[in-house]
Amino acid sequence: MELPLKPRRALVIGGSVGGLFAAHLLRAAGWDVEVYERAARDLGDRGTGIGTRDELFALMGRIGLAADASIGIGVDGRLGLDRHGATIHDLPVRAVTSAWSRIWRPLRQALPDDCYRTGKTLTRIEQDSEHVSAAFDDGSRAHGDLLVAADGLHSTARAQLLPEVTPGYAGYVAWRGSVETLSPEHAVTMFQRMVFGFPDGELMLSIPMPAPRGGTGRACHFVWFRPVPEGALASLCTDAGGRCHGVSIPPPLIRPELIAALKHDAETLLAPQLAELVHATPQIILQPIFDLKSPRIAFGRVALIGDAAFVARPHVATGVMKAAIDAECLADALAADGDVADALQRYDAQRQPYGAALVARGRHIGAYFAGTHRNQAPSTETLMREYGSAGLVHDRPIVARGA
Ligand SMILES: Cc1cc2nc3c(=O)[nH]c(=O)nc-3n(C[C@H](O)[C@H](O)[C@H](O)COP(=O)(O)OP(=O)(O)OC[C@H]3O[C@@H](n4cnc5c(N)ncnc54)[C@H](O)[C@@H]3O)c2cc1C
Repeated sequence: MELPLKPRRALVIGGSVGGLFAAHLLRAAGWDVEVYERAARDLGDRGTGIGTRDELFALMGRIGLAADASIGIGVDGRLGLDRHGATIHDLPVRAVTSAWSRIWRPLRQALPDDCYRTGKTLTRIEQDSEHVSAAFDDGSRAHGDLLVAADGLHSTARAQLLPEVTPGYAGYVAWRGSVETLSPEHAVTMFQRMVFGFPDGELMLSIPMPAPRGGTGRACHFVWFRPVPEGALASLCTDAGGRCHGVSIPPPLIRPELIAALKHDAETLLAPQLAELVHATPQIILQPIFDLKSPRIAFGRVALIGDAAFVARPHVATGVMKAAIDAECLADALAADGDVADALQRYDAQRQPYGAALVARGRHIGAYFAGTHRNQAPSTETLMREYGSAGLVHDRPIVARGA
């Protein structure tokens, strides 16, 4: 009698959207999967608006999750406003937006609890031609046939495998926030349309999104990109007690005088509709913008996916989407080729050029307002049309997924 084959085992590092898509797709292909997430708490209460594309809903459908209208909301078009609130562009670019939590939560709920370990921080990977193992900061180890590194921008796995690759600062920061209640005068526009403002050398935009906590309500997320020299980041990320938090800072610790200055600038530089968002948001968030490009994303039995592999500037609005399709391409490559290392090479050949093109695309859009291409800057209307056109360059996919 033939013994049934033991399922191959995948270690997935990082339990955010990339790790969860990978876990579901590998389980569906017969792998025994365990996800190791550093955070001890639930991730679902975090996050703001995200852009979506049909492939995201199709992929959720592929893993058996209802991709119904509650995941996203329709956005009716794009409005460009001058400083006084008058319309300068009115573009019929329709879109569907969602909230990060509305993607992450159903993915997490559909994964059995015994496959998802929290409070587990990867410290080191070891591999030979037959196996791979992960060491964690609590002294434990896990062993498998494949390791999927979905551990984000500051990936421990990538730092070990590509120590020379580090995130590059874009030269500007994003001040962000979300609002669920607005004055009746502005609410209809701001909850239905994407709205852009163009202070000199800066970009402000707002995006309607589903209310993060569920239900049918809407919220409005804004992002205001403003140049900041790299040397000034430490000061921005220093709290009122004088402690510098590196290149980010927990939102409640942002110094009150910085928030007061932002609100003052909103009054003087932004259309009233956009300035109201800055005033009404209960919590301003500061996010210096970085991007990252990996020359390789497969290393023997280890694959980098999502933000661990590439991070494009947010103007391509595709972090979740790219992580999901990375996971899908990886699972499909493994299904097509029984040899893990060969399958990972195939995955690398497919997704590395896509990630590199996406980073270039984010830089191209960012150059519009960051001053680097000032003398040849396209019009504000072109910027509005191109903003968020993540997967397309000249209206064609950068790389066909099945290529
Ligand atoms: C909580 C959260 C909220 C977000 N909200 C938004 C949003 O609103 N809009 C948007 O466009 N993008 C958001 N992002 C970023 C966006 O989701 C990413 O582009 C997208 O999530 C890429 O997914 P990822 O799984 O590759 O990486 P990430 O989402 O960055 O997830 C990486 C995961 O790995 C874990 N991790 C890191 N290091 C280790 C380690 N050593 N060991 C184990 N685990 C580790 C992290 O805790 C994290 O959960 C958010 C990311 C996070 C983590």
